Amino acid sequence: MSENYSLIDEITQRILNGGEMTSEEGRWMIHLDDDYLTWLMAGADRIRRHFRGNKIEVCAISNVRSGNCSENCSFCSQSGHHKKTTSPTYDYISSEKLVAQAKQAREWGASDFGVVSKGWGVRSDKERSQLKEYFSELKEHSEIGRCASLGALDRKTADMLKEMGMENYHHNLESAESFFDNVCTTHTYQENIDTIRHAAEAGLRVCAGGILGMGESLDQRIELADTLRQLGIKSVPLNFLNPQDGTPFEQNTPMVPQEILKSIAVFRYMLPQAELRIAGGRQFLGDLQSMIFMAGASGVMIGDYLTTAGRKVEQDIKMIQDLHLTPREDTQQRRASA
Ligand code: SF4
Repeated sequence: MSENYSLIDEITQRILNGGEMTSEEGRWMIHLDDDYLTWLMAGADRIRRHFRGNKIEVCAISNVRSGNCSENCSFCSQSGHHKKTTSPTYDYISSEKLVAQAKQAREWGASDFGVVSKGWGVRSDKERSQLKEYFSELKEHSEIGRCASLGALDRKTADMLKEMGMENYHHNLESAESFFDNVCTTHTYQENIDTIRHAAEAGLRVCAGGILGMGESLDQRIELADTLRQLGIKSVPLNFLNPQDGTPFEQNTPMVPQEILKSIAVFRYMLPQAELRIAGGRQFLGDLQSMIFMAGASGVMIGDYLTTAGRKVEQDIKMIQDLHLTPREDTQQRRASA
C-alpha cells in the first residue's frame, strides 16, 4: 500500500522536474482505489499550481443553431438520428443576441466565448456569411476571445474562419479511438484528428477534449489523454456524460463524484501543462464541485452548456472567489503575442 503512495510522489516530482508520466503509469493510476484519491489530488494540485499558477480560465458558449443535426453522436440530443429527444430546433440566432451573450460572459469573467453550431462543418454560403457577420460583430462590440465549434474543418475553411476573426477552434475527440464506434458512425475519428490538425496549421488555438462516462473503460480514458498529449493539445475540456432522454446513452449511469475527481487528477498528471477546463456534467459532483481545482482543473465553463443547463453563474463566481483563484484575462496579451 505505501508503495502506491511512494510511486504517486515519485511521478509527481518527476513531472514537477519537467518529465512526464508514461501511459502505463496512467493506466495504473486510474485503477487506484478511492483510498488514494486525496493523495492523488494533492499531487495534481501541486502540478496545476506549478504550471498554471493560481489563475484559471473561464469560458462560455452560445448554441447558435440547434437540432436536427446530420450526425449521430450517441450522447447528443441534437442529433436528427435520435427521434425522441426534446432538444429545441432553431436556425441561427441574431448577431445582436450573440453579442449580448458575449458581453454578459465577459462581465462574468470569461476570457473566451464559443460560437457553437450543430452540424458537421461549414458547407454553404448561408453558413459562411452568417459566421462572417457573427465574428465581425463580436470583434467590433466585444473584447472577449472568439472561439467556435462547427464540426469538421478542412484547411481552406480553417484559413477562412481565421480570416473572419475566429481565434480559437474547439473540436472534441469525444473519446478514445478504440471506443469511438460506440459514440458516432457518421464521421470517423480520423476526421476529428484531421480537423484539429487543420485548425492548428491555420494558426488557431485548438481546444480539444472529450466526454467521460459514456461506457468507455478506465484504460480508454488514458488512451484519450494519451492521444491529446500526442497531438500537443494545450486546452482540454473535460465533460462528464449527462444522459439525455431519447439518446442511445439515456440509460447510462452518471459518474460518481470520486470517479470524476480521480479522472480530473489523472488527466492533470497526463497533461501537466494543459489548460484543463471542466464543462458539462459538473453537477454530478454535487457538493464537491469546488474540488475540481484541487484535483488539478485550471478552467471552467460557466453558463449553460450545449443542450443542458449549467448551474447559476453567481455560484460559480463565488466558488472561484472563495478559492482565491483569479480568472485569467489575458485575451489581449494572447493576441499581442500571437
Ligand atoms: S455533438 Fe455536434 S455533430 Fe454530434 S450530433 Fe450533436 S450537434 Fe451534431
